[in-house]
Amino acid sequence: MLFLQNYINGSLCPPISGQYIDCINPATGEIFAQVPDSGAEDVQQAVIAAEQAFPAWVALPTAERSKLLLNLADLIDQNSEKLALAETTDNGKPLSLSKRMDIPRAAANLRFFATAILHTHTETYLTDNQALNYVLRQPLGVVACISPWNLPLYLFTWKIAPALAAGNCVVAKPSEITPCTAYYFSELCQQAGLPAGVLNILHGLGSRVGEELVKHPTIKAVSFTGGTQTGKQIAALVAPQFKKLSLELGGKNATLVFESADIEQSATMAVKAAFTNQGQICLCGSRILVQRSIYEQFKKLFVEKVQQLKVQDPLLAEADLGAVVSASHYRKVLSYIDLAQQEGGKILCGGRAVQLQGRCEKGYFIAPTVIEGLTQNCRTNQEEIFGAVATLQPFDTENEAVQAANATPYGLAASVWTTHLTQAHRVAAHLDSGIVWVNCWLLRDLRTPFGGMKQSGVGREGGMEALEFFTETKNICIAY
Ligand code: NAD
Repeated sequence: MLFLQNYINGSLCPPISGQYIDCINPATGEIFAQVPDSGAEDVQQAVIAAEQAFPAWVALPTAERSKLLLNLADLIDQNSEKLALAETTDNGKPLSLSKRMDIPRAAANLRFFATAILHTHTETYLTDNQALNYVLRQPLGVVACISPWNLPLYLFTWKIAPALAAGNCVVAKPSEITPCTAYYFSELCQQAGLPAGVLNILHGLGSRVGEELVKHPTIKAVSFTGGTQTGKQIAALVAPQFKKLSLELGGKNATLVFESADIEQSATMAVKAAFTNQGQICLCGSRILVQRSIYEQFKKLFVEKVQQLKVQDPLLAEADLGAVVSASHYRKVLSYIDLAQQEGGKILCGGRAVQLQGRCEKGYFIAPTVIEGLTQNCRTNQEEIFGAVATLQPFDTENEAVQAANATPYGLAASVWTTHLTQAHRVAAHLDSGIVWVNCWLLRDLRTPFGGMKQSGVGREGGMEALEFFTETKNICIAY
């Protein structure tokens, strides 16, 4: 049994309560680790450590801050096998995906922000011949970063890297459901020579340690990625304290396939967009809107491709889908498949749990599921399922497609498949969505703004937007 520890002031330590939470491998249903059940006293210690570390961290030359973050990135690369296995054990995702996506991206996040701070500039404004204005962006002090279970180390580092690079000290909390890579990351921080207290990592429940952290008066900003309901709770807690708040929340994203699209390519990519990571990516395209003239042809190809996906032990190289993250999430996804049928949906493939043999006989596996015949307004097409469930809907005109794509409370991402240049620009401009991919999906450039509209969030991450979030902007006006 692995006993995880908090990382406070440079040391690994048990929670003050002495209490732990079970950590379950979703592919086997077995408890394999114990996660600290931290509370207010742990938060207090971590915040004090971060506050004390701040003056020296902010005074460090940028090049030295950068070098420490680059050391961390190198250590992630050197430990990539161990980290990938930990991610898969915790989350259930295919090991090949952890190796290909999660762990390399965590290293890339650190490298990106470590080098970005070497190349920043600031604005100046000349006011006639009276004054010179220039803008300073200064770190905030101690900030909180809270991340979810679907891309554990990937999203944890996506927040921590810009916060530290900008000169802040951080208290971070990974999801209690997938805490292992964050724990190994704290060991890497020790090896990298990160000064004590600059980064502190607390484990435990959102309703306990998470709330104590966001409410703490010393915390100047909260960067949160997770569910929309949790985002609402956090916003209500921190708004009276006027903290800076970045919320990256849920999605119900549309894939729009127009008749001019390359059908083979769009079907292949729509499968990836719907089912990568068992459909547990906030950017997954779970509503596939297809122009009626190609609907039947697309449907046939799409369903054939989905039927070829292998739901397997995530350790096996041939696994396309592994286990969903937990027993409760497994029940939630299956309940949405029932609901879709009650709402009049027809299951074209999947629609059931998958029972594996041997090591994985008690795991939480679900067949990738495709449903048609549902209206846009039904709950299946409105609510975030966050699992391997996609719906197909035909449309006639471009306007109808845009209206359907926009007709949910969410506005995170969309992908548009067309070979008409003007149509691509027109549709992209009319989608209520923070990110629009045209003839691609999940093609990420870390410099670009990332975030959602409507109930998908507030603020943007990525590139300079992230560095700006973690700084306070000050204008200085000097009269001649
Ligand atoms: P969640 O909201 O349950 O938990 C996210 C994190 O918040 C966890 O660390 C949790 O412990 C913590 N938390 C929970 N309640 C809290 C509270 N009251 N105060 C402070 N912290 C609290 O989300 P999840 O189930 O872990 O993740 C799935 C959700 O995340 C999905 O809705 C998905 O769309 C969303 N997500 C969004 C993005 C994005 O970039 N927009 C990326 C990934 C996941």
